[in-house]
Amino acid sequence: MIVIDAGHGGSDPGTSGNGIIEKELALKISQYMYNRFKDLGSDVKIVRNSDETISPDDRVKRILDAYGNRSDVVVISNHLNAGGGNGAEVIYALRNQSTLARKILEELEKSGQVTRRYYQRRLPSNTSKDYYFIHRNTGITEPVLVEYGFLDNKEDAERLKANYEKYAEAVVRAVSEYLGIKYVPPAGETIYVVQKGDSLWSIARKLGVSVDDLKSFNNLTSDNLSIGQILLVPTESSEDVYTVKAGDTLYSIANKFNISIDALKQANNLTSNILNIGQQLKIPEAPPTNINPEYLEYVVKSGDSLWSIANRYNTSVNEIRELNELSSDVLQIGQVLLIPISENENNITYTVKAGDSLYSIAQKYGTTVDEIKKANNLTSNLLNIGQQLKIPTAKDYLDYTVQSGDSLYKIAQKFNTTVNDIMKLNNLTTSLLQIGQQLKIPISI
Ligand SMILES: [Zn+2]
Repeated sequence: MIVIDAGHGGSDPGTSGNGIIEKELALKISQYMYNRFKDLGSDVKIVRNSDETISPDDRVKRILDAYGNRSDVVVISNHLNAGGGNGAEVIYALRNQSTLARKILEELEKSGQVTRRYYQRRLPSNTSKDYYFIHRNTGITEPVLVEYGFLDNKEDAERLKANYEKYAEAVVRAVSEYLGIKYVPPAGETIYVVQKGDSLWSIARKLGVSVDDLKSFNNLTSDNLSIGQILLVPTESSEDVYTVKAGDTLYSIANKFNISIDALKQANNLTSNILNIGQQLKIPEAPPTNINPEYLEYVVKSGDSLWSIANRYNTSVNEIRELNELSSDVLQIGQVLLIPISENENNITYTVKAGDSLYSIAQKYGTTVDEIKKANNLTSNLLNIGQQLKIPTAKDYLDYTVQSGDSLYKIAQKFNTTVNDIMKLNNLTTSLLQIGQQLKIPISI
């Protein structure tokens, strides 16, 4: 059971400095905390939820009335400091152990706040009693007075303005741990604890966010991280959500947002490539560098087999089976398969020359403008001289040497193609063949 106490209020503003009034920020912090504990499903009450004047006696009464005078009631009294120091401090009651106060200070530190100390404070006139009434008069409850920083210290004040919700969240974590409340980060956020060897760059990469987002979300002013530091990472806010439409595939969506299929699957915890119309997909931020897609999308046509497709794209039946999680080798016309683009020597890298166009290159390699654009993540048809292009379909046809007795018709039959397609591919103006003549045979379509 938790009671949140927003210090001061109404005619008692508390302290102030650098544009912050204690009663106002204490209320904001308290309301944040109250809502978070509600979200976590814990029993929580708030002493004041508006700019209300409350006498010390009334405050104590509200605290003790919340759940009764019990030792398992934790009271979080939120305050801001002043008086020439800097950093956060936590004061706990003479009757309590330091555990909760220490945890709170530790979590505040992990959240980037400068911390001072956790301690007990005695009444000078009677050192057996607590100095603060919030400790002294609150029965057997467990109160902690949290001073989040010094308002008369410019750096503290700036950090508080930017990060007070993060510091409130730090207290939520500490109290949750102390009371055994199952902690989950706020909606749309995930928590990352900095590990040895981490850098902003490596974390951003790992979590699929940009370094800039990570810095701005955590109000970091430098790139330095410390081990154990807690970073909040947006899971929704900087990501778009895409609703799957008829005809969409992972490939087409990944391509549209210029991300890899793997990143898309990872962001959505997808274990298969099957999408449902209306399904919501999180679109992670595109990586900073242009990456080549690892796959092609292939729509199965009449006459195709796994073998013919594997052969055409210079990959293996097994690779296609695994990538597409096929449980059977039977294909259906219209089925979309992901085809790995193999990195062996048959996968051509083409350097653009003067006079080239996507169309002329596609013609030359027996592929299509679309396939070249997909394979290279191109969004326009403009090419630059010297630009390197990956040509996805290195093997689009078979080489065939005409033998005695062959006719175009026979060859077309043999390779499951048409006379017309062979003539087109070879720019033939006549159907007469000569023994030993080299023909390109389109792979069955
Ligand atoms: Zn105060």
